[in-house]
Amino acid sequence: MGRNPKARYAADVAEFELIESIRARCTQTRDDVVLGIGDDAALLAVPAGTLLAVSTDTLVAGVHFMQDAAARDIGWKSLAVNLSDLAAMGAEPAWATLALTLPVADARWVNAFAEGFAALAIQHRVALVGGDTTQGPLSITVTVHGLLPERFALTRSGARAGDGVYVTGTLGDAAAGLRQMQSQPPGDSRLLERLQRPTPRVAQGLLLRGRATACIDISDGLAADLDHVCAASSVSAEIDADALPASPALLAACAAGTRRAFQLAGGDDYELCFTASDAGSGDLLDALARSGCAATRIGRIGTGGGVRLRDAAGNPVSLPRRGWEHFA
Ligand code: ADP
Ligand code: MG
Repeated sequence: MGRNPKARYAADVAEFELIESIRARCTQTRDDVVLGIGDDAALLAVPAGTLLAVSTDTLVAGVHFMQDAAARDIGWKSLAVNLSDLAAMGAEPAWATLALTLPVADARWVNAFAEGFAALAIQHRVALVGGDTTQGPLSITVTVHGLLPERFALTRSGARAGDGVYVTGTLGDAAAGLRQMQSQPPGDSRLLERLQRPTPRVAQGLLLRGRATACIDISDGLAADLDHVCAASSVSAEIDADALPASPALLAACAAGTRRAFQLAGGDDYELCFTASDAGSGDLLDALARSGCAATRIGRIGTGGGVRLRDAAGNPVSLPRRGWEHFA
């Protein structure tokens, strides 16, 4: 800890103990970890013919989670949002590093955080191989590394006119959960769970390899994230706003207009939005349904640019406020 990242202080004792308690809880091991936590760098074996997919996301207290959010949930979510990025590339998760900035060396908080992180890491065979622990305003940066056979990467740039547009799972629950959290009494636990402990669609991303033409994970809202696919692929997308999948909890929690706004522009869904040609899409949808997370067709890719919305009757629907943007 301290300003000079390489300086040594008395606080190093606490830092060492915190690192030890994280290491003791993140027990997932892998044969491809040649050297993990404890040296100046981790050494990892990447198989020949394999690409390394690397992604980083930061969660800042007061921006990405409430100051008083449960440490266990923050630990889960800090890994989940990163695994979601790997899923969107079709990569298989392998390793993670964790940069923790803590206001104080609070062992109980760190233990609960590490338990939440480890619960998801074990589900996806992710080994924690290193990190950094410093003092400052609460902030968590996780970097994940995934493996991907060459030529199988799912990028944002492969969508073609005529492709169908699909989304896994359901949309809008996390945004509804956030609204309910701010209300009294607290609302439906199914919605809060989607916000606080999102499920990265890793298995579904693997199924999309070689079958989807483009893919993105939905972190900032469907409309904003699909717009990134359109821009990267130089295509447009026409979406049927009435076809967007909703969970029973969302249907029960809000009226149609609010629901649609949450589905289109609420953040934190961590579902996958992908495009695929019609040939073979039936097999793909069957495989996704068998994986436990079905996908829904929500529209079609066209020429031109941008995302257009229509309702089931074909009438234009105006886009709600853009997805979450920092510095906006
Ligand atoms: P250095 O001073 O060489 O950067 P550190 O004392 O920061 O090393 O870290 C010692 C070891 O503990 C390193 O292997 C580092 O990767 C690991 N480490 C530090 N903080 C964390 C953390 N929050 N989570 C996981 N590993 C960590
Ligand atoms: Mg260090």
